[in-house]
Amino acid sequence: MNDQAGLPSLSDLVVERVGFGIFVVDRDLSVLSWNRFMQDHSGFAAEDVIGRSIFERFPDLPRAWLTRKVESVFQLGSFAFSSWEQRPYLFQFDHDRPITGGVDYMQQDCTFMPLMHGREVVAVCVTISDVTHVSVMQREREEAVAKLREYADRDGLTGIANRRYFESRLADEFSRWQRYGGQLSMLLFDLDHFKRINDEFGHVAGDIVLRSMAQRVADVVRNTDVFGRFGGEEFALLLPCTPLDDALYVAEKIRRTIGDEPVEVQGVIVPVTASVGAATARTGSADYEGMITEADAALYAAKRQGRNRSVALA
Ligand code: GH3
Ligand code: MG
Ligand code: MG
Repeated sequence: MNDQAGLPSLSDLVVERVGFGIFVVDRDLSVLSWNRFMQDHSGFAAEDVIGRSIFERFPDLPRAWLTRKVESVFQLGSFAFSSWEQRPYLFQFDHDRPITGGVDYMQQDCTFMPLMHGREVVAVCVTISDVTHVSVMQREREEAVAKLREYADRDGLTGIANRRYFESRLADEFSRWQRYGGQLSMLLFDLDHFKRINDEFGHVAGDIVLRSMAQRVADVVRNTDVFGRFGGEEFALLLPCTPLDDALYVAEKIRRTIGDEPVEVQGVIVPVTASVGAATARTGSADYEGMITEADAALYAAKRQGRNRSVALA
């Protein structure tokens, strides 16, 4: 498409130099035009591609999809699009991002534009935009949000669920129990005379004890149970599908997990025990807070009866 003086037209120059791919195909998907971007990224010069079916040089293209897309533009005479979110790429082009970005090939947005002669579509112009940076940013954002969500549910010292998360799961399980029945129990447990541990061994040692106890218990609970830090040295365990008798059995297991072996903190042996209160959802219970109150009362009874024991109220 040179002008009479043999110089390329301005529009040809623009098509050559723009920072996205432009190529034109006819109804049989034979290539009519192939710009510099397409040459640079595919490794095929215009003369290697023009006049041939696009599938000859690019057998990996999604043949059925691309044929359908181009045919629809011919039939309807209107634009068509494809976003990287639906189809990450059309051509397997390398991208210029570090490999750590998590994307395999250049991510592409594609536009299919009818080239008209009067009212007839004579060819389809396809543009390919490199949107790898957008997809990488979106992936990073999604990962950051997932991490924040995870942090929002965790207790900073012990890494187990925090009280907010525990209560939200308790509320869910309580609603399920109200609707479908079954059994639902919970435990509240509290380390005995923890103030003394802090006083005797120091607050840092106290923190280590808390972390180590949380870890011990986390290792023995089922992954369908929800284990959380309820307050300072107080923990809670939600036991779905568990009647009170079984909850008491779990309470004893946890009490022994905590108390049977002292913790060694910086070479010092620190004996630790815990008292446990168990509660269950009962017919007529109005809300999940009632279960917490009952577990708290049972825990208080365990303390009063001498600590290092498990109690459930009748
Ligand atoms: P009881 O057997 O009646 O539970 O006695 P206690 O001393 O454990 O009970 P109390 O509630 O009087 O004291 C709890 C102590 O736990 C007080 C507080 O300093 C300590 N504590 C709470 N949170 C933390 C924490 O994050 N780290 C440390 N090291 N200590 C904490
Ligand atoms: Mg305590
Ligand atoms: Mg306490």
